Amino acid sequence: MGLNELVWKKRTREEIEHFSDRYKEFIDYAKTERLAIEYFEKILLENGYIPLEKYTGKENKVFYINREKSLVAVNGEILNGINFVAAHVDAPRIDLRPNPLYEDSGIALAKTHYYGGVKKYQWLSLPLALVGVVVKENGEKIKVCIGCEDKDPVLVLPDLLPHLDKEDKKVSEQFKAEKMNVILGSIPLEGEEKEPVKKYILKLLKEKYNIEEEDFISADLELVPALKPRDVGIDSSFIGAYGHDDRICAFEGVMALLNAQPKSKAIGVILFDREEIGSEGDAGAQARFYRAFLRKMLSVKGFNDTEQLLDEIIDKSTVLSADVTALFDPSYPDVHDKLNVAKAGYGVAIVKYTGRGGKGGASEAHAELVGKVRAILNRNGISWQVSLLGKVDVGGGGTVAKFLAKEGFDTIDIGPGLMSMHAPFELVSKADLYETYLAFKVLMEEL
Ligand code: MN
Ligand code: MN
Repeated sequence: MGLNELVWKKRTREEIEHFSDRYKEFIDYAKTERLAIEYFEKILLENGYIPLEKYTGKENKVFYINREKSLVAVNGEILNGINFVAAHVDAPRIDLRPNPLYEDSGIALAKTHYYGGVKKYQWLSLPLALVGVVVKENGEKIKVCIGCEDKDPVLVLPDLLPHLDKEDKKVSEQFKAEKMNVILGSIPLEGEEKEPVKKYILKLLKEKYNIEEEDFISADLELVPALKPRDVGIDSSFIGAYGHDDRICAFEGVMALLNAQPKSKAIGVILFDREEIGSEGDAGAQARFYRAFLRKMLSVKGFNDTEQLLDEIIDKSTVLSADVTALFDPSYPDVHDKLNVAKAGYGVAIVKYTGRGGKGGASEAHAELVGKVRAILNRNGISWQVSLLGKVDVGGGGTVAKFLAKEGFDTIDIGPGLMSMHAPFELVSKADLYETYLAFKVLMEEL
């Protein structure tokens, strides 16, 4: 069985640490959605997956990468239906604006725009790395990663000193997006009268990256915490890192895909971008790229009415909407319902429904699917628990589940609990990290 069973009592420390070490290597590398997809592309290729353009209709392991920001991969005969793990690879962060650079009183700065649900104060006075791509007019793509190596400088959004900043206002009113301007430097370019500091920064960018000021307009540049993943706690039972939400489920999903054996149905993963802002755009869960991928596979196989066939495949398929949920935080017991919240170390959490208020905007798993999932987890001795995102009317949230459910997939929300979700340094229990991977693996095989 497995409901509310402590993982630490049934798995060896060694196997938990082994999986945690691989995860820490990934989460350190995958600082943006593009880098996460790049990482997964490499390991899919290493494990015999072929890109869609090379598919001849015979191979079992096929993948497609959409705009370097989302991905779909399958293994097995898709006509029987597919058991997918769907996760997202974007995470809350601070983006640069299209026209970011300016100089004020001898300091060069850049304007930013936060992405996703952030508590702004958490991002101030924190070492940040500037990571992303800049596209030149000739189409050349330049990768930027300032602050990724120990020898690199880092960037920072400075905060006001406490002496001049009373803390008696409501916190959310205190921190203004317009004041989140990142410091770039303070040395003037010799012989320049106008904006000499900004010009010196531009000179350095030109020398190191061949970037000009106008290039910032055609760029995806993100400020992310310049922090290494670290073990947390005197017993090292947690991992602290940036971007657990939701790259942790992306990693667990891909690892499950590589280690599971497709049985009656095919197995697969879909990794989306843009979940944190509502799954919009052509790389988010409302986009059609994964349908186009499956239709293309069908037409290469020689089928004509791929739309009809795709509907039938989706009807036979299941989606594990793999996303993190709130972990019970003993210092904030009031926001949780103790009976319905994930607890550290008790394994993967099934979230029957999301949404807010009277289940507004919720995706809810059918009792039939929850029953199947429960049976498979119990049969395989996987530790699992139930969770909801907070007490009723306290808050809430959503995942990619509702968009996939709308397409006709039988869908359930499931994943590990996190403490300090959306913070620059989120916490996950190593036991829950590992147990969630084991859960995805058996569910992919047996659903
Ligand atoms: Mn998420
Ligand atoms: Mn999130």
